[in-house]
Amino acid sequence: MKPIVVVSKCLGFAHCRYNGEIIEDPFVRRLRDFVEFRPVCPEMEIGLGVPRDPIRVVLVEGRLRLVQPTTGKEFSEQMNGFAEAHLSGLAAVDGFLLKSRSPSCGTRDVRIYNETGNVLPSSKRQGLFGAAALARFPLLPVEDEGRLKNFLIRERFLAMLFTLTRFRELAGEPTMARLTSFHARHKLLLLAYNEPVMRQLGRVGANEGHKPVAEVFREYGRLLPLAFASPPLASRSSPLAVRPSPSWLLALGFWPLTCLRVRSASRSASSAHGSSGSTNPTLRNRSCSSPIPKN
Ligand code: SF4
Repeated sequence: MKPIVVVSKCLGFAHCRYNGEIIEDPFVRRLRDFVEFRPVCPEMEIGLGVPRDPIRVVLVEGRLRLVQPTTGKEFSEQMNGFAEAHLSGLAAVDGFLLKSRSPSCGTRDVRIYNETGNVLPSSKRQGLFGAAALARFPLLPVEDEGRLKNFLIRERFLAMLFTLTRFRELAGEPTMARLTSFHARHKLLLLAYNEPVMRQLGRVGANEGHKPVAEVFREYGRLLPLAFASPPLASRSSPLAVRPSPSWLLALGFWPLTCLRVRSASRSASSAHGSSGSTNPTLRNRSCSSPIPKN
């Protein structure tokens, strides 16, 4: 099962930006083979054509409004209405990949203006559609293409996206045996992100209270996203860190991160044994010569 990802349509799917442009993002393009994209352009959906005069988020009497400065028109109600209808109509979704800085799609870095047209200081916030997505799906990975240029943010986005998707697939046919196997398969990944949550998940999966399977899955599914709430452990010196290297991570350009971990673990193993080379044949035989992808 491929993850279902709602994506801003202008990120390589249509010439729908206000000026008729399209943004070719190499990472979005690379992801196409691995996820099921659901492109959407909220501004076109509320009837704004292409090309169109730009819109912006303006703080008016303590409320954020979507305004088109050249015409003085406001589109807040239309945008909020569309966001509510669109997001509530999604039968299944595993994540969002939205356009940075957009007054509609932005998730964290949107400029907010005051009524006189000045940018408010320290006002980087969400666009209206981005805010609605974050509010409705607080436990899903919601990122923008700008932040995903950071490899650590990208890795967390992918790890969370694919793990939650596999769990969604599992929950379609819930059995305790399948849950046990899922937990065993993801244990090291979860350990790298959040050990307390990993252990909590283990206890839920052990089901010592003999709860009904549906209840166990509900509890496991509620906890699982929390494991990715913060970045993985900063230390890469544990040999554990090299083990969860699924093929999709490599295919998506994560070889450099894996190499860093291998090198770090290798150095650690070397110093532990007081020699110049690792005594661990797995670490010793790994090559890190793959080029670092541009994006
Ligand atoms: S950022 Fe969002 S609203 Fe703006 S053009 Fe792209 S998809 Fe459309």
